[in-house]
Amino acid sequence: MRLRLITTSIRTRLLVAYVGIILIGFSGLTVLAGGQITAAVRADYSQRLQYEIRLIAQGTSQSIAAYIRGELTEAELTAIFKAYETQSGGTLALYSIGESPHSYGEYERPPVGSFFNMPEMETALRGETMLVERKNEEGEDTLYTASAIVLNRQVKGLIQLGVPSQNIQGLVLQRWAILGLSFVLVTSAALLAALWLSRSIIQPLFALRESAVRLSQGDFSHRVTVTWKDEIGEVAQAFNEMARQVQSMLEEQRAFASNTSHELRTPLTAIRLRTEALRNDPTLDETTARRYIEEIDDEVASLGNLVQDLTLLSRFDAGRAELGHDQIDFARLAGSLCQQLSPQAAEKHLELTLSPPEQPVLVNASLNHLTVVFRNLLDNAIKYTPDGGQISWRIQAGESGVYHTIQDTGSGIAPQHLPHIFERFYRADKARSRDIPGTGLGLALVKSVVEAYGGRITVESEGVGKGTTACVFWPHSATTPKNSG
Ligand code: ADP
Repeated sequence: MRLRLITTSIRTRLLVAYVGIILIGFSGLTVLAGGQITAAVRADYSQRLQYEIRLIAQGTSQSIAAYIRGELTEAELTAIFKAYETQSGGTLALYSIGESPHSYGEYERPPVGSFFNMPEMETALRGETMLVERKNEEGEDTLYTASAIVLNRQVKGLIQLGVPSQNIQGLVLQRWAILGLSFVLVTSAALLAALWLSRSIIQPLFALRESAVRLSQGDFSHRVTVTWKDEIGEVAQAFNEMARQVQSMLEEQRAFASNTSHELRTPLTAIRLRTEALRNDPTLDETTARRYIEEIDDEVASLGNLVQDLTLLSRFDAGRAELGHDQIDFARLAGSLCQQLSPQAAEKHLELTLSPPEQPVLVNASLNHLTVVFRNLLDNAIKYTPDGGQISWRIQAGESGVYHTIQDTGSGIAPQHLPHIFERFYRADKARSRDIPGTGLGLALVKSVVEAYGGRITVESEGVGKGTTACVFWPHSATTPKNSG
């Protein structure tokens, strides 16, 4: 419900922002464009009227000359004026200059005296034209322009055109109507685009939310269908990757728990059988009883080791394992480990050789952790090498750390098992290793410890029966530890 509210508000905010920008932007643009268009229409109309009055002046001067010569009647001249008036949509007035023996009928105005408050007439007298706006005799807003009538190169009169201002307002209104319509159309299209955009942003977020809810309900197999090739698509991919990792972590944990319980159950069953026999079997002779007690001891010891390994492993997993700072000489540690394990090696007639560097190789680490690592590797070499084989441990000091190579001539590891040997409870050849003690936790623990100190471990084998080589690189300083305490 909370999520729903948040996403809805994102959509609303997006829409409000888009609509606001679109309306303000387009209104501003429309007003600006409207102003420009109005000015342009006025300028254009003014040019047109002035051009027209010049044409009328030219046209009527010819007719007036013909009228003076008696070639046109007054009625014919009037008709010509009328035609010009219809064409221009205004009214014409004729002002003669000086004494005129002729009558120009309804168009005639008193002879010129002064053109007070009629600047277009003054301008016409100078042979130019202009447009002015003022009220006519009926008090209506009118646009006036005038031009000189020239006969035989002499200004004989002035002709004035008056057009109602309404004409130009009509034109301007027409332009504004077109502009308004465009504004409505473009704004609607932009609003639709904004709606689509906000939807296309929110829709994938809803899908992501849906998937997150399913994940929180325990459906870890669910994935978001990624169809968007944008930032949200990347988030969806990251989400899927996270779900995949959580799923594999959970599966790993489940397998770990079931393996652990299995490994604990087997020795516990053996112990229970022995103790029951010891308690309830009256026919048990002393030798068998002692053997049972020894076997119980062995099982308890191996249980103890298993619990110790599990505890250490879980500490490294949780990042709670303290990286030690004891100063340890690798050569001495290796010598002491070889000595401890030499009875086991001797039992199988194995030749165990150690090649330490001439100088002491000092590192800062926990003695316990180092012992876990190299004891496990040596243990494996001894366990998986048949009688009469050889095991060698070479230690070389490098610039950034120390290189250990533990090589044996033992059973080797088949290529298909190699990628899995660091997995918890993995034993390469279960049938073959049934008689060899072990839980499959050793290498997993070794890897956790080595990597916690910023080191590396690899195990290589040419194949079954071809021996195994374990290489460990231990850095001088634990620069990039995975775990820290
Ligand atoms: P385990 O307790 O079985 O020894 P590890 O984790 O130490 O468990 O090793 C995992 C598996 O890797 C072993 O079961 C074994 O099959 C294989 N392996 C490890 N070291 C060697 C080796 N030196 N020679 C042959 N196989 C080995």
